[in-house]
Amino acid sequence: MVPINLQLQHIGFIFFRGFGNSKEKVIAFRECFGRLGELRSLIPCCTPLLALTATAAQKTKDEITKTLSLRPDRLEIIVSPDRPNIYLYKAKVNADLLKSFNWLLTMLKSKVVSCPKTLVYCKSIKDCGNLFTFFRDHLGKCAYTSDEQVAKNMLIGMYHHNTLEKHKKRIINSLYSSEGTCRVTFCTNALGMGINFPNIRYIVHYGPPRNIEDFIQEVGRGGRDGKPAVAILLFRGIHLRKCDKAIKQYADGKEIKCLRTCILAEFGEAKSNAVGHDCCLLCHEKCNCNGSNPCSKQVPFDLHNDQPQSNEQALLKKRKVMPHDIELLEELLNDYQQKLVNSCSTYFLSPECTTGFSNTLKKSVLSKAKYIFDIEYVLDNLHVFNVQHAIDITCMCADVFDDFEVHIDEKYYKMGTTDQTAAGSGNYDLDYGGNYGCSEDNMESESDESEYEP
Ligand SMILES: [Zn+2]
Ligand SMILES: [Zn+2]
Repeated sequence: MVPINLQLQHIGFIFFRGFGNSKEKVIAFRECFGRLGELRSLIPCCTPLLALTATAAQKTKDEITKTLSLRPDRLEIIVSPDRPNIYLYKAKVNADLLKSFNWLLTMLKSKVVSCPKTLVYCKSIKDCGNLFTFFRDHLGKCAYTSDEQVAKNMLIGMYHHNTLEKHKKRIINSLYSSEGTCRVTFCTNALGMGINFPNIRYIVHYGPPRNIEDFIQEVGRGGRDGKPAVAILLFRGIHLRKCDKAIKQYADGKEIKCLRTCILAEFGEAKSNAVGHDCCLLCHEKCNCNGSNPCSKQVPFDLHNDQPQSNEQALLKKRKVMPHDIELLEELLNDYQQKLVNSCSTYFLSPECTTGFSNTLKKSVLSKAKYIFDIEYVLDNLHVFNVQHAIDITCMCADVFDDFEVHIDEKYYKMGTTDQTAAGSGNYDLDYGGNYGCSEDNMESESDESEYEP
């Protein structure tokens, strides 16, 4: 809402809220914000004008200045959005929730009602529900403060647009009081408007909001009592979709030296009082306060070092792919898919659904071919629903590029060959590298493929 006080004869107040950027003006009410400057014509000339805004990045400030035609010699009072008492941490995680949240589960189990208050911001109500259910299931009895397993005794809570009013009340009361039972709240951005919880110690983002202004506002809900707090960003590649450049840079930028500087730069600020191991993960890793590295204070989490083959690591290993390699690989994939389809005697859905080897999968293999050096990469990064397919895709790549050997861990071999699928009956001739797990009936056509061997 935009309360505009026009009753005062001599001073016009304009409060900005959710100003947004020019792209968003397409939405009707945003468009009205975009035309606020026109109201100036209703105010007598030379009337002093006071414009107020909440957290605004430089881009938004520029937009406001332009819209309201503010004079270049205006007086600007800026309060820094920096909160030096909040340590900034980030880690790229995978789909394994236990790995990402084990630290919080452990803290809840051991500290129970004295567990530091934590807000876990999710990007959607669905994520919120998934995390809540995951925690409730993992905690079991430990999710409650007494044997009476009812909502009011729960250590965790969920807060979003659709949460029942009585549950919202329980959570808000818990967050304001010093002893509330709800210690960890999974929420969307619905939690936070106009509230001021004094003692939140951890702000976790499971996926960042779309823009840096929302991010810093949510981070700023931690440590409002001035005592140390930690803001943790856990994200998966998919979480960064539709996020603005600044957020992507913060989460995944390769050049960043300090997380705090990265945020503050967006607000036109250069300096912060936080230094060394108290600032952020990146400064902490470089800190040598006791004359040696690593420094005397341990990094609070090891999630950033604890991920299996991630995109980031895989990116380090990369090959040059020529157009004829892609052509050959595409041909092998097409043949493979065709063989899978042929071996299905009946199917109720499309051949793609029945075999689980879709055209989308083929496309993603082709686009990621430069990174494929092992089965794990295929399993982690491509939409394979069948271990056998992952093994065979890796073998095809080994065939085409001839720059690595396929190592099949016993666990995959077992999983692959026990799969009751069309491609599950194969054996591997890795010297040839081109069997792709198809049955002997197909060997004739398989051998045709050897003419493409580089
Ligand atoms: Zn830093
Ligand atoms: Zn240090």
